[in-house]
Amino acid sequence: MLITQEYPWQATLFAQWMQAGQSRHHALLLHGKTGIGKLAFARAMAAALLCLQPEHGHACGQCQSCHWLSEGAHPDFREITPEDEDSAEGSKKKTRKRQQILIDQIRALHDYLSLSSHRVEGMRVVLIHPLEAMNVAASNALLKLLEEPPQRTQFLLVSHQRQALLPTILSRCMQVEMPVPSESQGLQWMQLQGIAQPEWLWHYSGGAPITVLQDDLDWYAWYQQFQPHLRRGAEVDVVAAVPVLIKQGMEAAIQVLQKWLLDVWLSCHQQPLRYHPSEAAALQGLAGRVQLSRLLAFQQQLNRFKMTAQHPLNQELQLEQLLLQYKKIFEDKPNK
Ligand SMILES: [Zn+2]
Repeated sequence: MLITQEYPWQATLFAQWMQAGQSRHHALLLHGKTGIGKLAFARAMAAALLCLQPEHGHACGQCQSCHWLSEGAHPDFREITPEDEDSAEGSKKKTRKRQQILIDQIRALHDYLSLSSHRVEGMRVVLIHPLEAMNVAASNALLKLLEEPPQRTQFLLVSHQRQALLPTILSRCMQVEMPVPSESQGLQWMQLQGIAQPEWLWHYSGGAPITVLQDDLDWYAWYQQFQPHLRRGAEVDVVAAVPVLIKQGMEAAIQVLQKWLLDVWLSCHQQPLRYHPSEAAALQGLAGRVQLSRLLAFQQQLNRFKMTAQHPLNQELQLEQLLLQYKKIFEDKPNK
């Protein structure tokens, strides 16, 4: 864990929660859209709570506790997230992240919390993310812990989809809506990080730039590779486009299509573009040829696909079929 600092747009909230001290709720549910830095906030808070010599409410980065955290080996800290599992794909072995937090992980947490903390008067911090990844059994096991919280234990629960959580869990937490960066805060922060193409990233991430940064991938370079394919509309070369689009996995490919189609739709209705402001001319060209009913049906298909798309096999084939659908929405528009 390297990040022990919250993002600038979170500074006020961070200070408030750190100052709350004893009056802080034992379970904070940090919720909000993906990519605004909720997890970093939770980790920074964990570090500050555990730090032996915090400076102005922040972790010092120097003490034994901060050192343990950075090594991922703090005895009074547990971070729970879906675990990796090995799967075989053809002859290749692959490691993937599971989709769910399993009950065994929460049972292990019970065992851990039944022991006393490492430091006699010290805090323990439990960070769970994303909370909606817990299946029902795991949720119910967690509920018991939230109902009868162990002493001096802070739960930090991170969720991108609060609506997917059980009401019983919600009722046991203090819900904290996480702030989103304003455009100037976001751009300023990206410039300080030395990020290339900050304005492009700001728009393409929908004002939530953190997700894009967490990958090692150069998003802008990838965008420049796939974008020419999408621009071709009915003339898209499916065979050439699939390997480019699938590079970051099926979920990312679907997201790329969804963002592009939303802007096609906006362009049809002469609305300001959301993700591709620099593609106005190309989008207008496509908007002139699109069949709106097919566009809407395809968008719905993508939404459904996203919900069910955990199939590890044949992703290329699936994407190929989606791109054939994509072609069709720009074909044979009847003359008015
Ligand atoms: Zn420290």
